[in-house]
Amino acid sequence: MAMKAVTIGAGQAAVAFAAKLRELDGDAEILMIGEEESLPYQRPPLSKKYMTGEMEADRLLLRPAEWYDDNRIECRTGTQVTQIDAAAKQVHVGGEAVSFDKLLIATGATPRALPAAIGGELGNVFTLRSLADADRIAAQMMEDAKALVIGGGYIGLEAAAVFATRGLKVHVVEMADRILKRVASAETAAFVRSVHEAHGVSVLENTSLERLEGSGGKISHAVLGDGSSIEADLVVVGIGVSPNDALARQAGLVCGNGIEVDEGTRTSHPDIHAAGDVASFEFHGQRCRLESVQNAIEQAEHAAKTIAGGSEPYVPVPWFWSDQYDMKLQIAGLNTGFDRTVTRPGSHEGGQSVWYFSGEKFLAVDAINDPRAYMFGKKILEMGRTVTPEQAADADFDLKALIKP
Ligand SMILES: Cc1cc2nc3c(=O)[nH]c(=O)nc-3n(C[C@H](O)[C@H](O)[C@H](O)COP(=O)(O)OP(=O)(O)OC[C@H]3O[C@@H](n4cnc5c(N)ncnc54)[C@H](O)[C@@H]3O)c2cc1C
Repeated sequence: MAMKAVTIGAGQAAVAFAAKLRELDGDAEILMIGEEESLPYQRPPLSKKYMTGEMEADRLLLRPAEWYDDNRIECRTGTQVTQIDAAAKQVHVGGEAVSFDKLLIATGATPRALPAAIGGELGNVFTLRSLADADRIAAQMMEDAKALVIGGGYIGLEAAAVFATRGLKVHVVEMADRILKRVASAETAAFVRSVHEAHGVSVLENTSLERLEGSGGKISHAVLGDGSSIEADLVVVGIGVSPNDALARQAGLVCGNGIEVDEGTRTSHPDIHAAGDVASFEFHGQRCRLESVQNAIEQAEHAAKTIAGGSEPYVPVPWFWSDQYDMKLQIAGLNTGFDRTVTRPGSHEGGQSVWYFSGEKFLAVDAINDPRAYMFGKKILEMGRTVTPEQAADADFDLKALIKP
């Protein structure tokens, strides 16, 4: 009898899983269950070209509608899974119990919201995860409106760039001593900050938010830690996400920061896998959870390979990107644990790359408007080669020499 695979969630990871499993197993019955109304779509453009109006909604779809029929993949949208019964190998959907042989939990993550007690539930205070969120925010982007972004991470900064591009007046408030503190070096953060300032965005670092206040139930201004206030017509809160692991916890699966999986993407139940933003896996000896398209796709494909009988471990070379204005930031590797960075001038004006090391060990590169540096850094990591800090910093050193076969 054909194996039945079910996914909870119908996003980036679930689609990659379904496509790979179909490629490896022509007979498998594949069912994706997603709570959003839309067919699976890509999220990155939501804070970039979709919100600026340069990209139409139908181009967001990960696969055209006919792909699901052509590949015999059932995709139930607008349907929430309410429980996993791990012992019975069933998921509950409304009153119905759906059996599975293999389950992939690909439920993604939910943005952290501000508490209601400090104004988080006022009208025009948004988080940004879904197409519906992006549409709600876009509907408030009147020229000359005042936008406030809470949190200077990638999502907040991309939203700030969209607002500034569309002629809004923008403030970014960051509690830490600099933007991108959790993810990038001080050099990269300073570069990104200068680009925002050149576009008229006011970036307030070392600044805490006391509360949001409104009139008639709608945001009117923010009160900051020093008692000053900023007027705002709309607020985007970009203060990180929490993994959607509640169903897994209720089912007794081992969870920490997300659902813990082994090197074959298996949870603590051998027939239940997890992938994407919700999954926590070991990378270079430490558990981590990656929130990226690369990880969602490759980890989910890995789950399909394991289910189809593969035994290779999942050892990714992570990569990520962020577009703000005409600045393209590309990141290869993971800089966790770095104790040193060097900056390499870009091959073109307006570009640079920052290379991260732990001692002499090369970990990662951030390339701003410098696709060559990104490409070489990524290749070096993929090939298991290395670069010294001196070589990386020397614009005359030919990085190509390091990736010769
Ligand atoms: C605005 C934005 C910009 C981004 N930009 C970039 C970028 O530039 N580069 C990059 O690499 N990454 C970017 N990302 C991150 C990237 O989109 C995510 O890492 C990726 O979507 C993760 O895929 P996933 O399948 O794990 O989760 P998702 O794509 O979020 O899919 C999970 C799905 O599961 C559904 N679900 C949850 N619980 C249930 C349930 N109980 N029943 C049914 N369905 C359920 C959710 O509603 C959701 O539709 C961005 C994300 C956002 C929000």
